[in-house]
Amino acid sequence: MNVQEFSLNSEDQVIVKVVKEVLALFKIVVGGENPSYRRMSVQNERQPEDAVCIVTQLTLEDITGGQHRWSCTGTGRVGEHESAAVHRLVKLNLYRLLREHCGMPPAAWGILHGVRPTKIVHRYIDAGVDEAAIMRRLAEDYEVGGEKAELITQLAFRQRPFLARTDDHTVSIYVGIPYCPSRCLYCSFPAYVLPAAEELDRFMTVFRQDLAAAAAAVRQYGFQVQSIYVGGGTPTSLPDAYFSEMLQLVYHTFYGAATLEFTVEAGRPDSISPAKVQTMADCQVSRVSVNPQSMQERTLRRIGRNHTPQDIVTMYRMLREAGIPEINMDLIIGLPGETVADVDDTMRQIVSLKPDDITLHALALKRGSRLKLHLDEIELPDDAEARRMFENAMGHVRELGLIPYYLYRQGYQSGQLENIGCCRPGAESMYNIQIMEEHQTIIGIGGSATTKVVNPRTQRLKGAFNAKEVSIYMDRIDTYIEKRASLLAEAYGEQEETHLC
Ligand code: SF4
Repeated sequence: MNVQEFSLNSEDQVIVKVVKEVLALFKIVVGGENPSYRRMSVQNERQPEDAVCIVTQLTLEDITGGQHRWSCTGTGRVGEHESAAVHRLVKLNLYRLLREHCGMPPAAWGILHGVRPTKIVHRYIDAGVDEAAIMRRLAEDYEVGGEKAELITQLAFRQRPFLARTDDHTVSIYVGIPYCPSRCLYCSFPAYVLPAAEELDRFMTVFRQDLAAAAAAVRQYGFQVQSIYVGGGTPTSLPDAYFSEMLQLVYHTFYGAATLEFTVEAGRPDSISPAKVQTMADCQVSRVSVNPQSMQERTLRRIGRNHTPQDIVTMYRMLREAGIPEINMDLIIGLPGETVADVDDTMRQIVSLKPDDITLHALALKRGSRLKLHLDEIELPDDAEARRMFENAMGHVRELGLIPYYLYRQGYQSGQLENIGCCRPGAESMYNIQIMEEHQTIIGIGGSATTKVVNPRTQRLKGAFNAKEVSIYMDRIDTYIEKRASLLAEAYGEQEETHLC
């Protein structure tokens, strides 16, 4: 739907943002050609009640000047945080008005827009709400469809035993290597094509400094390292000797008696070599991610990959022969020019390899990607087709006996879908669960790495971010080390005692 003008009776940034999210959900464009309405106006008023009560009025003026006005009232739940209730009700009321009076189709996720929808379910579980009541609340408070409500509720309950396997001094380590053999069409990650040896040497010098400071913090606070995740970029794009030095350093510094999982993203076959596979086996790497995204040769070329589907199979076999215990494979649904038949063929090939874990991603149009920049020239499957592809892929995943265990969403995903990780029972990646649910401190080292500290006293989460730009990371390493150190000190350092006379 196009409207010529839009007005909202608030300049509050969060209100503007949530209203925009609803407009984007229904693909309502302001401006543009052939408008269906001359004007759309949204007015929210808070009623002077004890409980949060919001009345939303939607006014549409059609092209001939005729006006249509509807309103909707929403009331917050007992115990709901006041500002959260206001934002939720503004969104919910507008969603309902557009659905009821403008013929907009229901959205599978309703008004649940966040990256981590399962976090809401965990909050309900913490408050003692049972499974059936959680699904009812997701439907009533967020208009989440039955299928998605059931999916995230069951998934959250499945995650509970994993989340319980951490305490105040259990942490994970994330290592970011920001290089790749080439840049994929849809990529918005800070991934740089591998530089010359001189710059790589400089990166390694800075990386060693960063890692040594993180290791000192691990010792200082007596942390136990539960999982180590080496991602990026594609860490295996480092030349053999650099990769070996980096991985040995990480292994000998952080791998200990409490370590349950050591993951390396090997992403692309054009980055792997027998020497790197051997290094991973020597360092007790327990999990490797091989990310074909598609097994269609023309798609791989289209997205900027310099390898064939056969290279993926060869790499997979090399890892299995080296005895890597678990292999994860990432796929993207909704890639340019793909059809349900392409996805079906890709999934048949993937399933025949029997990976331990498959993560299905719905293509996201990310700022900074070439895909977003050249959207006009690229043909993408529509939302309905993307949903059919996803359903097909999930059918293959289920047939292989893999079960969903973590999920997240991104903005502007094909078919308003999600990213979902499924594995054989027992192959759940602890790191994937921890990073999504944000229950554990994760210490980030390297280019664009994020440190997330969960304060054991307050359970509040704070982050410190290394620069996405690798040259800035290298130039300002002292600043990033300092920021991470002060965040850790705030959460884990000794508190000054207050003496009251
Ligand atoms: S392999 Fe991953 S990080 Fe590297 S360019 Fe492609 S999408 Fe980006």
